[in-house]
Amino acid sequence: MNSNEIEIHKELKKYFGFSQFKGLQEQVITSILGQTNTFVIMPTGGGKSLCYQLPALIQEGTAIVVSPLIALMKNQVDAIRSLSSENGIAHVLNSSLTKTEIAQVKKDITSGLTKLLYVAPESLTKEEYVAFLQSVPISFVAIDEAHCISEWGHDFRPEYRNLRHIIKQLGKVPIIGLTATATPKVQEDILKNLDMSDANTFKASFNRPNLYYEVRTKTKNIESDIIRFIKQHKGKSGIIYCLSRKKVESIAEVLQVNGISAVPYHAGLDAKTRAKHQDMFLMEDVDVVVATIAFGMGIDKPDVRFVIHHDIPKSLESYYQETGRAGRDGGEGHCLAYYSYKDVEKLEKFMSGKPVAEQEIGFALLQEVVAYAETSMSRRKFLLHYFGEEFDSETGEGADMDDNVRNPKHKVEAKEQVVK
Ligand code: ADP
Ligand code: MG
Repeated sequence: MNSNEIEIHKELKKYFGFSQFKGLQEQVITSILGQTNTFVIMPTGGGKSLCYQLPALIQEGTAIVVSPLIALMKNQVDAIRSLSSENGIAHVLNSSLTKTEIAQVKKDITSGLTKLLYVAPESLTKEEYVAFLQSVPISFVAIDEAHCISEWGHDFRPEYRNLRHIIKQLGKVPIIGLTATATPKVQEDILKNLDMSDANTFKASFNRPNLYYEVRTKTKNIESDIIRFIKQHKGKSGIIYCLSRKKVESIAEVLQVNGISAVPYHAGLDAKTRAKHQDMFLMEDVDVVVATIAFGMGIDKPDVRFVIHHDIPKSLESYYQETGRAGRDGGEGHCLAYYSYKDVEKLEKFMSGKPVAEQEIGFALLQEVVAYAETSMSRRKFLLHYFGEEFDSETGEGADMDDNVRNPKHKVEAKEQVVK
């Protein structure tokens, strides 16, 4: 190790208490400390936050962190503050602050105390803030959830499109973009929109070798099929995703009637009930949560043993994120999706009310889900290929962990024909 490496290992231990970097973190941090534009693509849970937090803490000046969700920013600020004796080490700048609070934030930045300033993209467009940030030393700008910049991402935020313009006004500061969305299209969009084709790019593998992928044809027996599946996984934690709130309610009820401990979760329930059901799942008072996609953001239950898609998701990114909540601890994770072409038509009908450009993207993303559901090749290979990653379906890690590989359908049919 050279002296720089020793230095950042020491800082890692000092601030975060970790003795080792995870995955590509060290390379990413070295790139940022070298004042280079940097692009990081890592799956959820890969440890992206530390990639900007650590260099921010050890460099001169304040790092600006752009993030789309106020709740996530608050969590991170609290976490950083707990590492330090100074509250001012990290701040959030948003529209909910009082004048006094804003004055305190500015004071802490000016005095050099604040190492991390979290800002929502819409706050960063405010003249007043931009003028202030121009007057203080900025170490770098981190753009978390950078896929929000792309219409091909699953969470497009138009405000993200203005970021490059604003960052340019701050003078020459390095940018670090981070995302867990790995499709080549989204990556291209990010680099183009942030005008950083020169960026050092670090991409971690998206392979989850401990997840087993399975697609079953959806029939009218789906409910008894799900019940059977859950009973085979007695006492294990699982999530069932449904498209509509109504379906969530009815499936939760069917499970309860059949002696399975399950609760519903969707945005139509009041906040108190949602929090209660989420806690019951986390504390293992219930085995199963039946939910819309409203459930899962920031949920970190390590031992979720299965994720069932009662209805197909709208894109493979969503599918990857949702199934990715299984087997976080490295143990078994069964990902079972039910597929029927009728559901595809339903989703298409949903989209038909949207602007044409959005519809086209939506249809294209959905077609990929259809292709995934109907494929007879290794599902893992298909999924990883979609994320721009080559996978060897003979020797790759987790190669035999899907229904198509375990029970190849087409080979069997071909053989039967020969016998005839
Ligand atoms: P991401 O943003 O990529 O989804 P996070 O930044 O939220 O991931 O990190 C996920 C988890 O990994 C956190 O609990 C974090 O504390 C942990 N983590 C990050 N870096 C390390 C490390 N070097 N060693 C151990 N745990 C780490
Ligand atoms: Mg993150």
